[in-house]
Formats: sequence, structure tokens, C-alpha cells
Amino acid sequence: MKVLTTAREMLDFAKEAEKNGLTIGFVPTMGALHRGHLSLVEAAKQNTDVVVVSVFVNPTQFNSSSDLAKYPRTFDSDRKLLENNGVHVMFFPSVDEIYPDSASQSPTFDLDGLDQNMEGPNRPGHFNGVVQVVMRLFDLVGADMAFFGEKDFQQLAIIRHMVKKLDYAVNIVGCPTVREPSGLAMSSRNVRLSEQGRVLSTELFETLIQLRNELKTLSPDLALKNAKARIHGTPHIKLEYLELVDPETLLPIGFG
Ligand code: AMP
Repeated sequence: MKVLTTAREMLDFAKEAEKNGLTIGFVPTMGALHRGHLSLVEAAKQNTDVVVVSVFVNPTQFNSSSDLAKYPRTFDSDRKLLENNGVHVMFFPSVDEIYPDSASQSPTFDLDGLDQNMEGPNRPGHFNGVVQVVMRLFDLVGADMAFFGEKDFQQLAIIRHMVKKLDYAVNIVGCPTVREPSGLAMSSRNVRLSEQGRVLSTELFETLIQLRNELKTLSPDLALKNAKARIHGTPHIKLEYLELVDPETLLPIGFG
């Protein structure tokens, strides 16, 4: 496996692959890799000739500097994991390589309202930063296909939308959420959960399962009300949002 750290090296690699008629599958990550990330690598391996995984903790998508500082960074184990899983290139650039003109001059994208609900209001500027880094990485990596997790569903919908809107020739593939046996979705941030947080998280998963089942027989309105009531009734959990939305437009569905 090659470890590339500069934009130039990445561009040259992509050019060479294209010259040789090889397709590139791309998995963007922020590192601290786990089985969720590896499922994207597996999908990339099955669909493309060359697999590139980027590990870059993108400062422009964090709206809290303490969250950025606390984000886990595990380069050595990430490199080993990628190497053992048949990845061809690990792209590990510095902030200066990704944003040579300084990250503070971040362009503002019109996300056509897709960032107005769910994660959006709680994380101002987050999706703008995500789109900024993903488009920059697409330019460098020369990806034919890019693989994203459904765990971050709003992100996936926004990337699909922006790729269409900005005419990028990248095929976006969504991959199912990989979970712990308890139902907790795997995430690099899970190392920061307390014992109690881990236990409580299963309540969220069970609520989602119950909601999915109730949607088979109850109106969306009632099923959603029941799910919210269940969470409101659980001590120590404060609900940020729970919404039923159209998977493409992310607009609320099922009412009226
Ligand atoms: P991150 O490193 O958290 O930015 O995630 C990089 C990519 O891996 C994103 O497309 C995530 O949606 C995806 N991902 C993270 N966790 C999981 C998971 N548990 N299952 C599936 N995909 C995941």
C-alpha cells in the first residue's frame, strides 16, 4: 500500500491510473477506522480496480474547536488496518495540502435547504465544510466511484445532491450502517461514550426498530409520536431530533 501525503502525489497517481484504464474507488474518512469504514472499503474493492482511502480530519466541518481537538487520531493502526484490507492508497494529507489558500476562505455552497433540518440546525456550517472537503478530495483523487455510509444519511443525501448540481462525474454509492451487537452504530466518536452512554444508546436503536415496525400499521404521525414519547420517557436522554423524511429531498413526509 502506498501512503501519499501531498496533493501533487495524489493527482499524479490518479492520472497514471486513468492512463492505464483503471477505475478508482474512493472512501473518504476522518480516520480512527473501524468495521464501518472497512465495509465501505469492501464495497470499493468489489466495484473498482484501485481503492483509495483518505484519512483527513477536516477542520472546516467542525463547529466546535474542542470537538476538533478531541477527535481521535490513530494513524499507525489506521495504516495497518488499510494495508491488511487490500487498500492500494492511503491518502493522508496535511491541512495545508487540502486548503493551500487557508481554510478560513471557505466557499459557501447553496445546499438548497438540505441542511435546514436534522443535524443542520445543531451544527451550523458543518455540511458546508463537508461539501468543501469532499469536492476538493474528488478533484485530487480522480474517483470514478465514491462510497459513503448510510449512518450519516443527511451527509449522503447532500453529497448526492451536490454531485448532481455541480456535474461531478463520480458515482456515489451508499452503504448500510454497521452496528455493534447492541445495535449501536459504529463510530469513531464512540470511544468518548461513558458506560452509561453506551447502555442508553441501545434505547435509541430499539426506538428506531419499534418505529419501523409501527409504520407498517399506524399512521406516520402516530408512530412518530409514540417514538418521541418513548425517548422523552427515558431518563438521561435529551432528544435533539427525530424526523421522518423523504430520502432524497429530506423534507418531512407522511403528514397532512
Ligand atoms: P468518518 O470517518 O466518520 O467521517 O466516516 C467516513 C465514512 O464512513 C462516512 O461515509 C461514514 O458514513 C462511514 N461510516 C462511519 N461509520 C459507519 C458505520 N458504522 N457503518 C457504515 N458506514 C460508516
